[in-house]
Amino acid sequence: MNEYKVKILSIENVTHDVKSLKFEKPDGFSFTPGQAADVAINKPDYLNEKRPFTFTGLNEWDHLEFTIKIYNDHNGVTKEIGYLKTGDELIISEPWGEISYKGEGIFIAGGAGVTPFIAILRELKSQNKIGDNKLIFANKTEADIIRKDEFENILGKNFINILSDEKLDKYAYGFITEEFLKSLINNFNKKFYLCGPPPMMDALGKILNNLGIKKNQLVMEGF
Ligand SMILES: Cc1cc2nc3c(=O)[nH]c(=O)nc-3n(C[C@H](O)[C@H](O)[C@H](O)COP(=O)(O)OP(=O)(O)OC[C@H]3O[C@@H](n4cnc5c(N)ncnc54)[C@H](O)[C@@H]3O)c2cc1C
Repeated sequence: MNEYKVKILSIENVTHDVKSLKFEKPDGFSFTPGQAADVAINKPDYLNEKRPFTFTGLNEWDHLEFTIKIYNDHNGVTKEIGYLKTGDELIISEPWGEISYKGEGIFIAGGAGVTPFIAILRELKSQNKIGDNKLIFANKTEADIIRKDEFENILGKNFINILSDEKLDKYAYGFITEEFLKSLINNFNKKFYLCGPPPMMDALGKILNNLGIKKNQLVMEGF
């Protein structure tokens, strides 16, 4: 697999623990929205520490973008990514991954699991094809919601938030349950896109199975 050394062009704080990194796009590089790459920081101690991150920009941009949750509670790669500056370098692989757009449906994300859906929904919006796609986004608190204003703009009433650790009138509270999905979805004959931490993926797998969702309706990846 080819690898590409790319310079970071800019860094933006998206939430209190999520950063967006814009970086150089190698000549001829393209990806399918939803795909990720293996990424290493181009510093001697980190060259063998590859971690997957999802491209969240549009192919038509002249640069690439990652949206990365920084885990400061242990000395992993994302903590080091939090210290990177403009001009530092990443080494990225060719794009790969299970998630791509397969038709109108319900996107269900937990935390940083929303990144493949940022790319897909941005692309649909840019093509005027957003249709009746819905995003159900589970987070701990409102401050954790990634790209809230942009999703509101793209999806309007089809952007649904649920918070597990903060009770607010404007959002649902708790975890995603069968009842919660039944209250939001009137047609279960659509695609279901799932991405989030493994415990959430396990729970949702069971819930969707109970609701009669078939394997060929599911597009999913655990983070
Ligand atoms: C296909 C794919 C695409 C992905 N895309 C994205 C993306 O676009 N954006 C994004 O933010 N993430 C994404 N992820 C997740 C991302 O790869 C991980 O968050 C990242 O690899 C964590 O690296 P790390 O070295 O910081 O943590 P690691 O050391 O690799 O630890 C992994 C996880 O274990 C936990 N953990 C491990 N050790 C400790 C400890 N001592 N204390 C507390 N917690 C601990 C943390 O929760 C951490 O998430 C993606 C994952 C996959 C599979």
